[in-house]
Amino acid sequence: MGRPSDGTPSGENNAPRANDLLAASGAHFYRALVENAGGILTILDRDGIVTYQSPAVRKAFGGMEQALTGRKITDLVHPDDRERIARKIEDCARVPNAEIIEVVRLPHENGSWLRVETHARNLLADPDIAGILCVSRDVTDAYRLEHQLREAERLARFGHWRWVKGESAPQWSRGVARILALDEDKLPAGGDWYEHLVHPDDHGELLSKFLDAFETHEPVTCVTRFRTGDNCYRYVKTYVYAEADAFHEIGALVGLAEDVHEEVEAELAVKASEAKYRLLTEQASDVVAYYDAQSRIMFISPAIERILGRSPEGFHGKPITEELVHPDDFPRARKAFLRCVQHGEQVQFDYRFLHRDGHYVWLESTMRRTLGSDGRSAEVIGVTRDISERKHHEMELLEARERAEAASRTKSRFLANMSHELRTPLNAIIGFSDILRMEMFGSLGHERYSEYAQLINDSGALLLDLISDILDMSKIEAGKYELHPETLDIKALIDSCVRLVRGNAEENGAQIVHMVTCGGDCEIVADERALKQIMLNLLSNAVKFTPAGGRISVEAAESGGEVRLTVNDTGRGIPPDQIARLGQPFEQVTTDAALAKQGTGLGLALVRSLAELHGGRMTIESEPGAGTSVTVTLPKVPYCEVPRPLAEETSETPFPGAAAG
Ligand code: ADP
Repeated sequence: MGRPSDGTPSGENNAPRANDLLAASGAHFYRALVENAGGILTILDRDGIVTYQSPAVRKAFGGMEQALTGRKITDLVHPDDRERIARKIEDCARVPNAEIIEVVRLPHENGSWLRVETHARNLLADPDIAGILCVSRDVTDAYRLEHQLREAERLARFGHWRWVKGESAPQWSRGVARILALDEDKLPAGGDWYEHLVHPDDHGELLSKFLDAFETHEPVTCVTRFRTGDNCYRYVKTYVYAEADAFHEIGALVGLAEDVHEEVEAELAVKASEAKYRLLTEQASDVVAYYDAQSRIMFISPAIERILGRSPEGFHGKPITEELVHPDDFPRARKAFLRCVQHGEQVQFDYRFLHRDGHYVWLESTMRRTLGSDGRSAEVIGVTRDISERKHHEMELLEARERAEAASRTKSRFLANMSHELRTPLNAIIGFSDILRMEMFGSLGHERYSEYAQLINDSGALLLDLISDILDMSKIEAGKYELHPETLDIKALIDSCVRLVRGNAEENGAQIVHMVTCGGDCEIVADERALKQIMLNLLSNAVKFTPAGGRISVEAAESGGEVRLTVNDTGRGIPPDQIARLGQPFEQVTTDAALAKQGTGLGLALVRSLAELHGGRMTIESEPGAGTSVTVTLPKVPYCEVPRPLAEETSETPFPGAAAG
């Protein structure tokens, strides 16, 4: 600003009255103008000392009129501004006519800081001013508003922009830059701004929304992807409205941009997982269904149509009623459902459901209680599958088993009868051949006769053994073998059995030893005939399969209420893959063709069955070429012999849940 003589307003528009006033009053007029106009004017010298201040200073800062003049401005400003302002004054004072614009904080009389935007101009060379002329205005409120807006943008993750008609790009707020992780000066200002900022697939949508806002004058919203500084995309919700100008035309588009990336991503993730589960449910061959507590179906997957020929829609909102379920199965199914709803038990049950064609389909449902969407009511999730085929097989198996059991019972009865019938004539054959062999009633005449009589007697005895074995086996299988347990001295029992086979062993050239390590009484409660049969079968196998020079040993030991009887030999052994088969009736080692003929494959089967009848077991350990060891473990007292108190109580319920529902 110059003196009146420097800058007299000129031109046709100047009113003649103003010119007259100018001429008349000169400097007084301008002084009055400056002092009443309300603008804050100050003049500083080159050191920043205030040499003039207009009266408006007082209005703006309170009663500071006296305090400013003659003081160094840098002593007055906010301490944080001091250094900057000192430098700026210095810079400005150096260059004649230099202009600067700065915002500076100055204290108000009430203690608050006022923000003042100051335009300073170096007029040190102007003889009338001879200083730096500063024209200032109070921008405290504007600054506060802007600061608040910025804070709001930061906290609420939004930004704003304004696109003035005729300009190539919107003016972006700092909030927009923050959302997009860009520096403010990196936000595009050219006409192709949206190509830089908006995801190519979303261009069309965003621009068409802008057009809508233009044409309809109504606010519009859309969610589109904006590119960020690190070349990723973020979902931004834009709220746009058109702003009318003074001519009632649209002067600008104003937009609010809200960062909704996390929300959209979470929504998309939920949708994707929902779609996945829906696909799983719809494609699964099992039927997935939701029931309310009254068994009304709220959802049922499409697989139901394939199983029952009924559409899922036909079930919706309806309960499963009596006419749909087989009458024999309905009460059971109902009970299970109630147990699930009322007691929260997971239940599984099978039942027949009426197919649309009129036949029943076997189904198996597994149901679990869950809380409804209101968080209080009970709902049931059920998974149901078609088990017709399994049921069909089960029934076939049941029938086959019944047939097999009937056949086995018939066979056992037949064998028992036959064995009995065969024994009577055999006893005659053995008895009379014995009389002949011993020539009890005089010489037979030819020695061949006595040889044949001996053969008849041996064969008869073998046959009797075989028949006895078969009879015992059939009795065991038919559950008719009765044990007569008594207290036995183990050592004496083993002695008597060893004595019976020792002759044969020595004939074969094998040595037989035995040791009994039972402590104390060395007794067992068992059926004597059965126990002897066990020992003899094991011993005769050992003798049969142990060649000359071999060794057979018998051990008896007691521990933990059990007695272990073991027969070891150093014979040919059994191939490992055959061991599991042995112990079943008529099973023999397939490679033993010659020796197999001497036996029937019933010996070990009887040992195992008799041991099990006593509540014990048989185990075989063997190494081909090295020997075999067969162990029979028996309880010292058979289980059936353990006395039980009359009023014994049991905590187990035979059928869990049977009482519920
Ligand atoms: P078998 O009357 O044939 O002896 P077993 O049931 O007693 O019937 O034995 C079945 C088969 O087990 C025998 O044929 C034999 O191959 C094998 N076996 C049994 N005991 C022994 C053993 N101590 N050593 C080798 N092989 C054995």
